[in-house]
Amino acid sequence: MQHFPIFLDLQDRAVAIAGCGEFAVAKLRLLLKTQARITVYATEPEADLLAVINAHAVSLIRRPATADDLHGAALAYAAHGEAEADAQFAARARSVGVLVNVVDNLEASAFITPAIVDRDPVTIAIGTEGAAPVLARAIKADLEEKLPQGLGPLARAGKLFRPHAEALPQGRRRREFWADYYFETGPQVLAEVGEELLEHALHDILRRHLAAEDSQGRVDLVGAGPGDPELMTQRARRLLDRADVVIHDRLVPAAILELARREAQFIAVGKEGFGPSTPQDQINAEMIEHAQNGAHVVRLKGGDASVFGRLDEETQALTEAGVDWAVTPGITAASAAAAAIGRSLTQRGRNSDLRILTAHDIDGFADHDWRSLTRPGSVAAIYMGKRAARFLQGRLLMHGADGATPVTLVENASRPDQRIITSRLDRLTADLSDAAPTGPVLTLFGLAPAKAAAALPALIEELA
Ligand code: SAH
Repeated sequence: MQHFPIFLDLQDRAVAIAGCGEFAVAKLRLLLKTQARITVYATEPEADLLAVINAHAVSLIRRPATADDLHGAALAYAAHGEAEADAQFAARARSVGVLVNVVDNLEASAFITPAIVDRDPVTIAIGTEGAAPVLARAIKADLEEKLPQGLGPLARAGKLFRPHAEALPQGRRRREFWADYYFETGPQVLAEVGEELLEHALHDILRRHLAAEDSQGRVDLVGAGPGDPELMTQRARRLLDRADVVIHDRLVPAAILELARREAQFIAVGKEGFGPSTPQDQINAEMIEHAQNGAHVVRLKGGDASVFGRLDEETQALTEAGVDWAVTPGITAASAAAAAIGRSLTQRGRNSDLRILTAHDIDGFADHDWRSLTRPGSVAAIYMGKRAARFLQGRLLMHGADGATPVTLVENASRPDQRIITSRLDRLTADLSDAAPTGPVLTLFGLAPAKAAAALPALIEELA
């Protein structure tokens, strides 16, 4: 991050704009949204510029600015659009320590103006370090469409009400009050009756929240999906957004954890490959303790919480401790891997059942009904199969599986570093050791990538 975003208080501060034409007009229009004291330096202002200046009674000085003029200004814009005039103005501003922006010249600028979505007092600034203005505009257009116009009035009324909200203890209860106002009751009141009743509604909501018992915490056991934040459910995102404590598996990538509130407490548990793991009892104890202290805990698990996620052990412990809980499903690695290779996990006439199995469990390698898997057309999604490949291969061949059965390994399914390794049963160990994957791997036994899937990884990279 080369440019650090801040929101600058420009009320009654001097801001200088130098230029006569369209660039100066653009900057002036933007700055007129603030309460800054604006001065335009323009020797021969064009008609458009004059019109804006006159309409808003902006002060105009018809000569180049001197260093003395600029002394003490908060910001200065060199907006002639002519290299030499801009360079001179910028040098004067710099000589008296004023931050200067030079139109269309990133290197010469001490700051850049972001693309802005304005729902005053909610302001969203979008910056791309000057790299891709087109991208910034696309994001802006997207947000403009998504954010209700009502956000402004909601936030204005909310801001005035802040002192009253202090009647609620800081932390979860106060946050819940604001969430109720901003996302549920507030928008409803705004749509049905109008802005004038927002304050009244705020008092109502506050009374309701003050009367509510100091509620106990709870635990949401949430599937985070295979790793791509876009593959999370909306509910998962919302819960994460409100969590006080996030207890997550190490499989959950940073891109997803970043969606949680910055103030949330993060606790990494579970294990990484065959590395050290947090004992299950300790995980249970953490969840229970935080919930009993009133926290909203999100227990975030890779994929779907109910697939090799020791879900029942955790929900049972919570039930025994009298803690409320609920499960939010997620996209399991098998689904993501199948999508990556463009194949269906079941297919009429080929396999009407799908085996989901793990190659090792708590006691080591897991034994299964291997014979049923050796039937032609069988498909299995094998979790945690990397280290157990030799064992799997041995068992399946021993029970009569065809050595030519396709096996596809999908490493880091749905993530930017996704990799597809195609193999067959008799070459599995050799191919795996050649590929030497370091990320989580899902083994699809009985499936080869669809032909068209050759194009898929590239496509995924392009979208990322
Ligand atoms: N609950 C998870 C599975 C946990 S077991 C789920 O539903 O997906 C951990 C195993 O899941 C890993 O060893 C690997 O086999 C598989 N896995 C999880 N995420 C994966 C990913 N993004 N790509 C490939 N395999 C993954």
